[in-house]
Amino acid sequence: MQTATLAPEQNARHAIAMATIAFIGLGVMGWPMARHLRTAGHTLHLFNRSSAKAERFASAYGGTPFFTPAAACEAADALITCVGNDDDIRQVTASAFQSLPAGALFIDHSTASANLARQIAADNPHYHCVDAPVSGGQAGAEAGQLTIMCGGSAEAFAAASPILAAYARMTGHLGPAGCGQLAKMVNQIAIAGVVQGLAEALHFAQSAGLDAAAVIDVISKGAAQSWQMDNRAKSMIEGRFDFGFAVDLMRKDLALVLDEARRNGARLPVAALVDQFYADVQAMGGQRQDTSSLIRRLA
Ligand code: NAP
Repeated sequence: MQTATLAPEQNARHAIAMATIAFIGLGVMGWPMARHLRTAGHTLHLFNRSSAKAERFASAYGGTPFFTPAAACEAADALITCVGNDDDIRQVTASAFQSLPAGALFIDHSTASANLARQIAADNPHYHCVDAPVSGGQAGAEAGQLTIMCGGSAEAFAAASPILAAYARMTGHLGPAGCGQLAKMVNQIAIAGVVQGLAEALHFAQSAGLDAAAVIDVISKGAAQSWQMDNRAKSMIEGRFDFGFAVDLMRKDLALVLDEARRNGARLPVAALVDQFYADVQAMGGQRQDTSSLIRRLA
């Protein structure tokens, strides 16, 4: 595997050859990524479904808003997308690929199916395609500290790396087209089980009459430690669930995971169960709450 670990000071923002980049999808994640690309000195052609966002971004940071993906892609060296799901990617690329010049780079940061990434790369051999879903959430995007899981040819990854350096802490090339999306699925499977385990641990501590926060202070220094424990246990105990990655998005991701597992034969009993637990949280009105809200089911 080819990897690039980038300390913030090594992001080489000033050493990268400047590119004209069509950037599509200025949402929670895309907006700060695009901002980092501007800081790095790239020229941005902007498109977003609701055009006001592109105009707002251009006024704040520069770049030019366009009315269609095709218009944004004319004469661009690269197209970067960070939209919602497979349908959004199909819609955007149907327009964008009408004008994106041959030889250009296409980086997709959306979390989507591996199948779509494979199909786009196979249907468009004249582009360097990289499926590049991210981990790190809004905070990681704002700080330019995302982990980026990449699929595509070695040439495409090499071309993408200097651009990704504007907002990556870690980029990894995991294999041909689709492997970035598969790696993101691995990430989500691991998270689902850990969050449910943490929710049950806290629920047990409270049921046993322990001071859950005090217990976490102690056990977080031992083998039970995890990112979720360090960053979410306190807010879970306090019943606060407004931190980043939403239940709706997690269910979208777990649907991709379970669909892929049906194809490759992987057995994922815990991920399948946790997916249903998240359906319960949605039914309780928690669609926009963060993924640690699993504990609400146990109250
Ligand atoms: P978001 O805030 O909903 O942003 C998506 C953006 O894409 C919106 O600005 C939306 O425009 C635009 N868009 C959607 N479909 C479009 C289309 N067909 N044409 C043009 N623009 C379109 O979502 P997000 O949180 O940034 O997430 C983006 C992707 O990253 C998703 O695949 C998500 O699963 C993944 N992700 C998110 C997080 C996170 O913590 N949020 C973490 C890791 C990965 P409108 O303004 O019109 O809605």
